[in-house]
Amino acid sequence: PVRTRFAPSPTGMLHIGSLRTALYNYLLAKNAGGQFLLRLEDTDQKRLVEGAEHNIYESLQWCGIEYDEGPGVSSGKYGPYRQSDRTDIYRRYIDGLLESGHAYRCFCSKKRLDDLRDSARLLQPPTTVSYDRHCAHLSEEEIARNLKEKSPFTVRMKAPDHYPFFEDLLHGEINIQPQVNKNDIRYDDPILVKSDNLPTYHFANVIDDHLMKITHVIRGEEWLPSTQKHIALYNALGWTPPKFIHIPLLTSTDEKKLSKRKGDSSVLSMKKKGVLPEALVNFCVLFGWSPPRVLASANHECFSLADFEKMFNLNYLTKGNAKVDDKKLWFFNKHYLQQKLKNPSTLDKITEQVYFHAKEEFTGEEVTHHKIKQILVNCGQALTTINDFNGTFYFFFRKPNYLENPICENFIKTHEKREIISILEALRGNIDTSNIDELIKQIAKEKGFVKKTIFESLRFALAGSHSGAKMATLINIIGPDEANTRLSDAVR
Ligand code: GLU
Repeated sequence: PVRTRFAPSPTGMLHIGSLRTALYNYLLAKNAGGQFLLRLEDTDQKRLVEGAEHNIYESLQWCGIEYDEGPGVSSGKYGPYRQSDRTDIYRRYIDGLLESGHAYRCFCSKKRLDDLRDSARLLQPPTTVSYDRHCAHLSEEEIARNLKEKSPFTVRMKAPDHYPFFEDLLHGEINIQPQVNKNDIRYDDPILVKSDNLPTYHFANVIDDHLMKITHVIRGEEWLPSTQKHIALYNALGWTPPKFIHIPLLTSTDEKKLSKRKGDSSVLSMKKKGVLPEALVNFCVLFGWSPPRVLASANHECFSLADFEKMFNLNYLTKGNAKVDDKKLWFFNKHYLQQKLKNPSTLDKITEQVYFHAKEEFTGEEVTHHKIKQILVNCGQALTTINDFNGTFYFFFRKPNYLENPICENFIKTHEKREIISILEALRGNIDTSNIDELIKQIAKEKGFVKKTIFESLRFALAGSHSGAKMATLINIIGPDEANTRLSDAVR
């Protein structure tokens, strides 16, 4: 069976690039009827960020991504799923590698390693590795003495002279070798266990993917240069590696790497901006993956997580860096919001969320669920996100500020003030909930005003010239009394 995992390190808020990685792994497993699991890679204690673990759970849950195994899920057979709870397991395997000679203890001091790094930097041609493998040649006695003296040590993998090639299912054959200087041989020999006795990413990642029976690893391209180290480790342990798929990075339209702006693009900050999870999922999956032609047409690119589960496969991943275009996200958001407004049960939920924000904004005004629902049902088409509600529809709750509003200012500048006053006077006291079209016609006829001007004056008085609501709806919702009051307030 296909088994995939999402293996984030809790070192910051989960951003949309990682969400996309999680989604692809999830979809690959679900499409094949396999399992998707969550593993927390928290062995780099210095980089842990408080709240980051919780942020991962909350972000995945909000997007509807459920894992079959993971921290807090009781059914998994291959736990624990948090690496810091697995140190005994790693110890067992490191002992085996030390015995077989695939790994060795390195007692070199920090000073010595720093000097080696400095000297490596000066080599011509330069090398990308710096260690001279000094400790691989220690005698049994030297090792025993160091251990007895409790000298701190790391464990290094004895890297092969040539890393094996490997097949990436997206990129094909990959062959990345460290660059060495022929006259001054240095070695990659990556550290597997740090001096604090905790495993490094490379080591824990390989042990866990094997023990958790992972069949496919989809991860960001930034891990491509690590993968040949991982393959060498699988070989040293006599294990078959999983299949690897390295996906291109997300870039924003201005080409900057997204992760540089993690704060902006974290999943939960999107939620705060009013993005709907359906929109974010749709948006993220379609970055770097497109559905087969038969299933999608130019005007049909809105897919739910369940749709993607049915369609997803590795054949339609794209190789180029995917550019993040906010416009597309808002397009999806509007689509899903409009869908929700049409369905009574989701409409209730949206009403509740909007109520919460509106109540905060319009303190002292009449804010009720009924009124909000009325506005959403009648005028909701104007919204791209529920966060726009207060700004777009403030005039339903509060008298417009006629003096400080630029649209109003412009209206007053471009119209004859005397004319506006007489129009509003003619309307005043006569508005009720059902007569507005008739009333406008009648005043146009009796007083000789252009209908458009009457209409604009009315919108100026009732809604501060904001559009977004039909006049009849507006009067209906604010009520004729309030409407008549605004007619006098507007030109005061
Ligand atoms: N812990 C790594 C990360 O934070 C996982 C990389 C991998 O999937 O192997 O991205």
